[in-house]
Amino acid sequence: MIVDIHGHLGSPGDFFVPEPSAQWLLRMADRVGIDAIGVSHFVALNLDARRGNTMAIDLATQYPGRLGAWLVANPHDRDGDRVIADQLDVPGVWGLKVHPDFHSVPVLDRRYERYLRLAADHSVPVLSHGQTRSDYSDPADLAEVARRHPGLTLLVGHAGLWTDGFARAAELAAAQPGLHLEIAGSRLTTRWLERMVAIAGADKVLFGTDANFLDPRVGLGKVVHSRLADADRELVLGGNAVRLLGRRLPPHRQPSREQDLLGRRG
Ligand SMILES: [Zn+2]
Repeated sequence: MIVDIHGHLGSPGDFFVPEPSAQWLLRMADRVGIDAIGVSHFVALNLDARRGNTMAIDLATQYPGRLGAWLVANPHDRDGDRVIADQLDVPGVWGLKVHPDFHSVPVLDRRYERYLRLAADHSVPVLSHGQTRSDYSDPADLAEVARRHPGLTLLVGHAGLWTDGFARAAELAAAQPGLHLEIAGSRLTTRWLERMVAIAGADKVLFGTDANFLDPRVGLGKVVHSRLADADRELVLGGNAVRLLGRRLPPHRQPSREQDLLGRRG
């Protein structure tokens, strides 16, 4: 099963997204063989988390098993955790998305605490933007979050984003049980993916594309055509997501899809 753990829908205010619709994203997923995509809505990230989260849930409901919803945790919303607590067990919800850089609140700020506790208590993963040297989301700060919340599954989005931070992010993930790496980003090449798996272990690295913001074809290609061992590639492409999401990810839609894709590669 191939799971894109890091996707978006809609259009952000400050970047151009040519294809903002769920229909396009799913058409593209069908074309390249991605079974399910976890999305946060740009309305939730850029404008109004409550409204955008509802939009993401509606889309996940409309496309069960294909789209999962990441609910954006807005640190500026004092009651936001209460609203999200009521939504966490809605079918199709995968977990929480935090974007400390968009919200200009460091991930170690206490305003994130209630969201992180909520995620740990409900055993839902948290996908964070992770950006090397950012005052808000440096991977070392995300590792500290994971250290403070032992039960939490925390994904470092973009594995730190900048090339000079990738090895350090992988070392942090190797050292901290709850900390995982997500590999979306144009600077994270196939070669970097292979190094990350070598440092952190294949069970700590998850496939993500940042589609519709980035092109999912490129994101998938760098994993499919990598020199990873087949067992490791399967973990990265979907095995880890299946393990971390558990019942939140419905069973495999098309069992032969991954084998087809990997077969065609050879
Ligand atoms: Zn993103």
